[in-house]
Amino acid sequence: MTTLYCAICAGRFEPDQDHVKLDAEHVRIDDRNDQEMYVLHPECYRRLTGGWMEPA
Ligand SMILES: [Zn+2]
Repeated sequence: MTTLYCAICAGRFEPDQDHVKLDAEHVRIDDRNDQEMYVLHPECYRRLTGGWMEPA
């Protein structure tokens, strides 16, 4: 099993710990998309997205 690290504070996750998964996809018009996956603590996610617009 892979160890997960928070993308904000670099803290390690225990396997049963709450986390927020973020899929970041760089969509390119030439069809060579990059897919990245981040995991964040719920608190770190809230801090990061504090001023963000809610998705419609
Ligand atoms: Zn964190």
